[in-house]
Amino acid sequence: MKNYINGQWVPSATGRTFSNINPADNRDVIGLFPESSAEDVAAAAHAAAEAYTSWRLVPAPKRGDILRRAGDIFARRMDELSRIMTREMGKTLVETRGDIQEAIDTAYYAATEGRRLFGINTPSELANKMNLSFRMPVGVCGIITAWNFPIAVPSWKILPALVCGNTVVFKPSEDSPHSANIFAEILEEAGLPPGVFNVVHGAAECGAAIVEHPDIKVVGFTGSTTTGKAIAARCGELNKKVSLEMGGKNAQVVMPDADMDLALNGVLWGAFGTTGQRCTATSRLILHRDIHDAFVARLIDAASALKLGNGLTDSTAQVGPVINGKQLDKILGYIDIGKAEATCVLGGERATECDLEHGTFVKPTIFTNVDRSHRIFREEIFGPVLSVSTCDSFEHGIELANDCAYGLSSSVYTRDVTAAFRAMRDVEAGITYINAPTIGAEAHMPFGGIKGTGNGHREGGWTVFDIFTEWKSVYVDYSGTLQRAQIDNY
Ligand code: NAD
Repeated sequence: MKNYINGQWVPSATGRTFSNINPADNRDVIGLFPESSAEDVAAAAHAAAEAYTSWRLVPAPKRGDILRRAGDIFARRMDELSRIMTREMGKTLVETRGDIQEAIDTAYYAATEGRRLFGINTPSELANKMNLSFRMPVGVCGIITAWNFPIAVPSWKILPALVCGNTVVFKPSEDSPHSANIFAEILEEAGLPPGVFNVVHGAAECGAAIVEHPDIKVVGFTGSTTTGKAIAARCGELNKKVSLEMGGKNAQVVMPDADMDLALNGVLWGAFGTTGQRCTATSRLILHRDIHDAFVARLIDAASALKLGNGLTDSTAQVGPVINGKQLDKILGYIDIGKAEATCVLGGERATECDLEHGTFVKPTIFTNVDRSHRIFREEIFGPVLSVSTCDSFEHGIELANDCAYGLSSSVYTRDVTAAFRAMRDVEAGITYINAPTIGAEAHMPFGGIKGTGNGHREGGWTVFDIFTEWKSVYVDYSGTLQRAQIDNY
């Protein structure tokens, strides 16, 4: 497996490689991928900068046509690509198909945006003068992503960047490189010219080289808050535009008037879907005291029935492995912390029975008696671990939900319309769901978070175009005289 630079599949200049391993079965090596260095990034950035000179001049509707074709090809290759994704990152086929559908939705949205990309005209304060403003591409974009949505998350950044006339150097996660190569194949087949989109594989060294390269004008990052903050600090020194999508510690609040079946299904999907490895996963459940015990009893029953397994070979599997041994150790470490802090009422260990022993599986785990001071209440675990706390009132529930360093997603279950609107107003998060779980973003809505989750940008919808464009203001004076603004008109 190789890098994709200037329309060619090429090895890394370093000659080094890393293995891509199936987390459901560590005997299954998917392939060796190039461990790229600054030299490879420079080759990709050079190709992207060259390609930018002509790509930015292609009419945006024509760029959109290529993206629409890419959406069609993602749909055509869905079966094959979902299997590749399940094999390399472990979530079930139903979920990897959803991941690809999100890219299809984003491709079609970006395609239509090629016919919009609206500017704004305003009257001038001077006679015989016209003011207009429009979006310009930024140049070469460096895209660095995590592994949990190997196609959807890159698509949120790459496809809008391309329709705006930018070119791209993409460094996927070292845990999902195969999907990234299929992404490149699809864009190539859709008709993207060589150099407009490039893939360099590798880890931190490669990512850091993207941040450093002077031809890369904007960095779009998805990953942990620790890495994102370090990238932002460096981009600050370099005066480089940077958009960050980082961690979460999302809460679901359930009030006594809620539909309990709905709330139960919501937390099961929110906490244990994608094995809890979503930035928007439900990792805190805040239950009103009046329903706490009954709800927890039902939750334990339902979660203990979830079937762990290899999504590729077991069509009944509902929960896949965690991504790798390092993450397994981190999750088991938090489970130990949780056992010392609170009460473990379900799971609490690695799953090794039957054919799970060769994968990195963790049993769905639930802690009760979780206090706001506990580390399992405050820190992102990124695994199938749910912390349950109790609130005494709606206000107390919102206060607990907001007692968090992150601010990505949130959910409130209630039938009280007043409480619902208060939650929409008062919950400190970029996304609030009412009577739905903390996961379920749609491609045409702004996506992102506040506090430790983001740095003020939003992907998705119309807002992503602010990341990948700069505004140009133009003044056309057709008076034939020198008109001095703020002086000659007053
Ligand atoms: P990570 O920060 O370890 O890695 C993310 C990416 O950054 C990878 O491609 C990695 O190779 C690269 N990288 C690592 N060090 C780097 C450096 N010094 N310079 C440049 N690049 C570097 O994160 P992860 O463990 O792969 O992903 C899990 C995290 O991602 C979780 O915190 C999760 O919440 C977050 N996430 C957030 C969103 C969102 O939209 N907010 C979506 C998915 C995942």
